[in-house]
This record gives sequence, C-alpha cells and structure tokens, in this order.
Amino acid sequence: MNTNSSTFDVIIVGGGLAGLSSAIHLSKYKLSVLVIEKNKYPKHKVCGEYVSNEVLPYLNFLNLDVFQLGAKRIDTFQLSTKKSKLISATLPMGGFGISRFCLDAALAEKAIEHNAQISQDTVEDIQFFDDRFSVATKNSKSYKAKIVIGAYGKRANVDLKLNRKFIKTKSPYLAVKTHVTGEFPDNVVALHNFEGGYCGVSKVENDRINVCYITNYKSFKKFKSIDEFQHEVLFKNEHLKHIFNQTSPVFEQPITISQISFENKSPIDHHIIMCGDTASLIHPLCGNGMSMAIKSAQIASKLIVKYFNSEIPNREALEKQYLREWNAVFKSRLKTGHRIANLFNHSKLSEVSMQVLQWFPMILPHIIKRTHGKLMQVK
Ligand SMILES: Cc1cc2nc3c(=O)[nH]c(=O)nc-3n(C[C@H](O)[C@H](O)[C@H](O)COP(=O)(O)OP(=O)(O)OC[C@H]3O[C@@H](n4cnc5c(N)ncnc54)[C@H](O)[C@@H]3O)c2cc1C
Repeated sequence: MNTNSSTFDVIIVGGGLAGLSSAIHLSKYKLSVLVIEKNKYPKHKVCGEYVSNEVLPYLNFLNLDVFQLGAKRIDTFQLSTKKSKLISATLPMGGFGISRFCLDAALAEKAIEHNAQISQDTVEDIQFFDDRFSVATKNSKSYKAKIVIGAYGKRANVDLKLNRKFIKTKSPYLAVKTHVTGEFPDNVVALHNFEGGYCGVSKVENDRINVCYITNYKSFKKFKSIDEFQHEVLFKNEHLKHIFNQTSPVFEQPITISQISFENKSPIDHHIIMCGDTASLIHPLCGNGMSMAIKSAQIASKLIVKYFNSEIPNREALEKQYLREWNAVFKSRLKTGHRIANLFNHSKLSEVSMQVLQWFPMILPHIIKRTHGKLMQVK
C-alpha cells in the first residue's frame, strides 16, 4: 500500500455506483484508493432507480444491505403502449427500488469505513507518463497513481480533455425525473410509452415513487415548459395521466439532464480503465445501467487486485484482459439494448411490436433476459 498522501495505488475519477463499488472492493484488498467526486453526498440523480437483483450477491460482498436502507422488492414489469394498452410480465430475476440519493451515499459511507479516501473536487486533467498517472483537479491538487479508473458517468469535461470520439456528436436525448407520493404498488416497475419517449415508474425507500422519463429534444422543444410537455404529450397515455394527477410531488422542481449519448465508447482509453457509463451506457428502457456499472466495477477491481499481486504481469496484459471480459459480459446486452431502442424510436415498428407483445406477452421475459446478466458471482 502506498503511504504518501498524494500518491495512491488507484485513483477513481467519479464516485457514483461504479466508482464507489470499486473503491470498496479495492480497499478490502488493502490497496490505497482515492475517489475524486465533484458533488457532495447525498444528491439526487436523474435515474429510474430500479436495480436488477443480479447485483445482490456483490452488494453483500461490499457489506451493503439495500433492504436495510428501505429498498422495495420488485417482481412485476408493466409495459404500456402510447395508446395506454397494458402488458404485464413477471420479471425473470426481479429487482429492487432505491433512490440514488440513498444508495450512493450509503456506498460512500462504506468506502470510507473500508479506508478509501473521498475528496470532493472535480478532475480536470489526467496525464499518463512513465507508466504512471498524474491527476489534476479544479482545486489545484495533483495526485499520482499507478492505476486510474474512469467512473465519471455518461459525459464529463474529462471526455473532452481525452478527446473521446463520442463527445463530438450531439445527442438528441434528455431526461426528467421527480419523486412523488401516492398510490403505487411496491412490487411493480412500469414503463409507459408516449410519443417521442418513455417513462419509468417504481417505488423507492420511504414510500416515494420515482417517475423518470426520457425523450428527445425535437419533441420537447415545441412546448414552453416541462409542465406543458407533460400535459400535452405524456398525459395522452392514461396511465401516466393517472400517476401525475393522483400523486403529490416531493421535489419543488423535477431534475433534468441532457446530451445523453448511447454511442459506443472504449472501455480502455489513454490507459484509463473505464467503468459504468464512462465505458458505455445502455438504453434506460432496459433498466439495467446500474447493475452494469456495478458489474464493470467488479470486473475491473478483480483484475486490478491481480495486477498489484503480480498475478497479471504488466499493464498491457491488464488492459487486454479487461477489454476481453468487458466485451464478453456487455457487448451483446448493449447490442440488444440498441435494437430495442431503435424499435421504440420507429413509430410504426414500435406499434407492431407492441401489438405482438399484447398477443404473446410470454415473449417479454425472454427479451428482458437478453438485456440482463446472471446473478453476480463473488468468487
Ligand atoms: C433517464 C435515465 C433513467 C435510467 N434508469 C435506470 C434504471 O431504472 N435502472 C438502471 O439500472 N439504470 C438506469 N439508468 C442508467 C443508470 O443511471 C446509469 O447506468 C448509472 O448511473 C451509471 O453509474 P455510474 O457510476 O457509471 O455513473 P454515475 O452514477 O453518473 O456517477 C458518475 C459520478 O462521477 C462524478 N463526476 C463526473 N465528472 C467528474 C469529474 N470531472 N470529477 C469528479 N467527479 C466527476 C459525477 O458527479 C457522478 O457522481 C438510467 C439512465 C437514465 C439517463
């Protein structure tokens, strides 16, 4: 373990699900870890907040019990068409609902308990020279490490610095999220379609209901406000109209993000090991980005531990192995996610597919399985 206060074995840029899971994992193996996170915990994030159960064994390994934090168990999926026709299916593996406000803060607490350091600062530059990284921050700090994990989410200033390809393409997607209170079953995650987008609804801790939708800028810009957009577009789906009309908002204002890119990215860039959304983002309609972030953190952490134990001989072997494992686990899920999203974007095709699903709802669990993984193994 490194002891110099500005030199670490591993620096993790971004303390979301991927970054914090890695921080706990690596600290358990006595590596010195610094997480640099620009925001203060806890913080709300735009996210559907439905997590697939595949991560439960690994969260257990990270000493986190989400049900103690009040997570809701979810076993049923509902899908509604733009014309409000409802299709229901049992989720093959099931999942749980927990807010990012609660989950990220709990993971950060665990990371500190395991002796990882967390610094609230923004990374501005990452340089690789002489087989070692230098990381510079907004607060004029400079840190050194043998390994850097990029876990800074969908899109960040660092992507511009690294000149990553996807950052040059504008993305048409934006998303809106709020929490509301009212009647909604604890065990259901719903995906309601509307013209130009879809909206996820599910319960999280404290009986709050997460309502989160994604749409494109073209549909959105015709309206003066979020409220008007919701009334004129979302409310054409009776289920969404009911949810918005029968519940009370918890947030003063919904939170929003834009420029959500689903372009392919590289899981290794400038020798940085990219995890979670920094490596690639799956379409939220697959409801699986969070477990992918956690799974990629596990893959990276296991290999980094082996690298420091000299079971992996050098950086080149580490990078090759990470790419191999990342592709084996995620490539086909991402492809299926892209295909489903294209279908949803295509008005006529999506109507036909919905009709087929209404006739044969038993197909739905098979489609869900293709975008989800197996229960994570800890050993
Ligand atoms: C609309 C929408 C709905 C979704 N719904 C679901 C869902 O229901 N279920 C699901 O499983 N997935 C869902 N996802 C996907 C899920 O939110 C992501 O896959 C997940 O958050 C990825 O976690 P992460 O750790 O990679 O990134 P993040 O959670 O985004 O963490 C990245 C962190 O890096 C920090 N950061 C950024 N730049 C810097 C910097 N320069 N320096 C320091 N820190 C920095 C940020 O502050 C942030 O905390 C949804 C996504 C969207 C867009």
